[in-house]
This record gives sequence, structure tokens and C-alpha cells, in this order.
Amino acid sequence: MSKPIIQIAILGQPLPDFDPRELATWRSKAFVVKPEIESFQLDDHAKGNDWEFTDDQFEAGVRRDPTCAFLIIFVKVKLENNWYLRRLSDNRVVFTFYEMDQIVRFHGLPLKNLALRVLYAAVLIYRRYGERIPPASEITSYAHDETRGCLFDMNANKVDVVHSLHRPCVCDQCCSLLKQAKVSNELLAVVQSELHRVQKPLIDRLTGFVREHTLVSIGISILSALALGVVASLIASLIYENWLTAT
Ligand SMILES: [Zn+2]
Repeated sequence: MSKPIIQIAILGQPLPDFDPRELATWRSKAFVVKPEIESFQLDDHAKGNDWEFTDDQFEAGVRRDPTCAFLIIFVKVKLENNWYLRRLSDNRVVFTFYEMDQIVRFHGLPLKNLALRVLYAAVLIYRRYGERIPPASEITSYAHDETRGCLFDMNANKVDVVHSLHRPCVCDQCCSLLKQAKVSNELLAVVQSELHRVQKPLIDRLTGFVREHTLVSIGISILSALALGVVASLIASLIYENWLTAT
């Protein structure tokens, strides 16, 4: 299974808690991220009527490296129609953290999960449409309005994105449509498997477990304390016996 090479670029001010180099070190059988991640200055003022940056402004911006399958440009400014992702020409997409970053941070999730969600969705779109990212002018139907924790949730209400940032999935309907579009079973299996690694930080998972299984957690704490006490007693006895033998 060949892996498309994804080019990543940062346009404008970077976010302090998003390190795009983490994407380049993410192990995947579905894609490769080009290790050189470049950042560019965002010069223009927003030209939209509601202070949003238009697709045309990005069209003239960062160019795709022809050795890469597609380019994902990360920004933090408002996009057309206040969408969080816009498809451009020449296999390029622009994704914004505008408003999304606050939602994700509020729920204690890393921005990296959001970026990975974009990467996996883009890979499947690229495969589905015959090794290309359809431009915004082309009508597509890969997203669904219902929130299912799926890569292709529309998230018209941006808050809903949190449902697909901890072990997201590709729902049954999307799997079926992707298979009809000749996306291989193997690629879908790889993506589903790797999406299990996109999850909350360990501390948040532990907190969630304690909240959901309070009695079990108390039991584990008591047993752990008892076990520690027994081990400490054994160690103390050994030290004492060795001391007696030595004297
Ligand atoms: Zn779906």
C-alpha cells in the first residue's frame, strides 16, 4: 500500500500549544508527513465582509511541493463562511484553529488530535476522489450532518468536534461510501486501527475512569495501599535481618 506524502505549512502566527513537528513523527501506514515543515508570514488583511480571509487570498499563498500528494495549510484566522476547513486548487486545503482551539482546550484535548483528524480525513478524501483533493468549486458529499464521532462529521456546531477527537472512527455509512469509491479495505482497516491512538492525554483518561468507576477506583486504591504496606514491611524486615547478621 503506497503512502501519500503530506506537506504541512503554517501560515501566520503559530499557536504556542501546537507543534506541527509532532505530526511528522506520527507513525502511520496510511501517510507520510514531509519532515520539513515551513512557516510563512500572513501579509494580507482579511478581505471578507465579516473580517474573514477568502479562498482567493489563500489561493495566491503557499504553493504545493510537487513531490507531495497534497498540502495542508494551518492558520488561526477566520475562513470563508466561518468554516474550519476550505479546499483550494492544486490539492491544497487550509484548516483554521479559529474558535476551534478554544473549544479543544476547554475540553482538555490536545490540538494535535485535531490536526491528526484533519490529516486522516484528507487522506481518505484524496483516495476517494482518485488521488486528488476536489476544490471548493466541486460539489462533494463526504460529510454528514449527524455527529457520530466520525472523521466526516460536519460539525456545523463547532463544539461537536470534541466527539471525534478521542478515538475517532470512520462510521459504517462513510466506510460503505469509501469502499464504493474503491478505497481499499486494507487502508480503511489501517485508518480505523490508527485512529484508536488518537486519544485524550493519559491523565484525562485516568480522571474519566475514576469518575465513571468510582467504587472500583476506591477498591484499587485500598488494595494498592495494602500491597505497598506489605512490600514495605518485607523490605524493612530484610534490612533489619541483614543488620542483625552484620552485627
Ligand atoms: Zn461518517
